[in-house]
Amino acid sequence: MSQEDICANIHEIRDEIRSVCERTGRDPEEIMLVAVSKTKPVEDIQEALTCGQLHFGENRMKELEDKMGEIENPDVSWHMIGNLQTNKIKYIADRVNWIHSVEKKKYLKEINKRAGQSERVVNCLIQVNISGEDQKGGCEPENLKDILEYAIDLDYVRVKGLMGMARFVDDPEEVRGEFRLLKNLFDEHKAMNQGSLQLEHLSMGMTNDMAVAIEEGSTMVRIGSAIFGKRNYD
Ligand SMILES: *Cc1c(COP(=O)(O)O)cnc(C)c1O
Repeated sequence: MSQEDICANIHEIRDEIRSVCERTGRDPEEIMLVAVSKTKPVEDIQEALTCGQLHFGENRMKELEDKMGEIENPDVSWHMIGNLQTNKIKYIADRVNWIHSVEKKKYLKEINKRAGQSERVVNCLIQVNISGEDQKGGCEPENLKDILEYAIDLDYVRVKGLMGMARFVDDPEEVRGEFRLLKNLFDEHKAMNQGSLQLEHLSMGMTNDMAVAIEEGSTMVRIGSAIFGKRNYD
């Protein structure tokens, strides 16, 4: 992907977000675009910054740590969207703004501890397994309530919502039910909001299923290949 194309792609995605919102009666301001820069060089992130993109997602802890160190811009928000490892949370907790992939209480505990050492609060989303596939990660829906209860009293974590990944399919209509499941879980648990539990976001939708995810209530879309081009690996 040439770097001129990155901004053109971002404009195209923003246009699409606007048009899906228009036809579903939603406010496009409600949708946060997270540009997933995993495997891509920091020059690509710099390019995206020139057209006002400020939210970036990475799925590997080391790569996120390295990129956060290389990009000085304090207006950037960093999103960890991939599998967590307890022993590496300390390397990102001093800078990361959002962690979408929290699936266990032990991660909340460690994030709370390490963010506290930096005297900052990290926004977290609880990832729920909505696809039924083991490799996608996420807690089982029946364990969600227990994890959310645990979050209420944490000082350095705010649990701001839920995240889910649908199956990879050619026709995104096939995964509408998975997004609807996540939205229903979100609606069911919102009444628990108190203390550090403040459910208001739904992170769902990637390059191939963004429109359906927005139609089903997404407030954060995580878009990689449509912005930065195809990846050679994940
Ligand atoms: C890679 C990745 C994305 C972006 O995927 P695209 O299909 O390239 O848009 C979104 N979410 C997660 C968790 C990812 O790992």
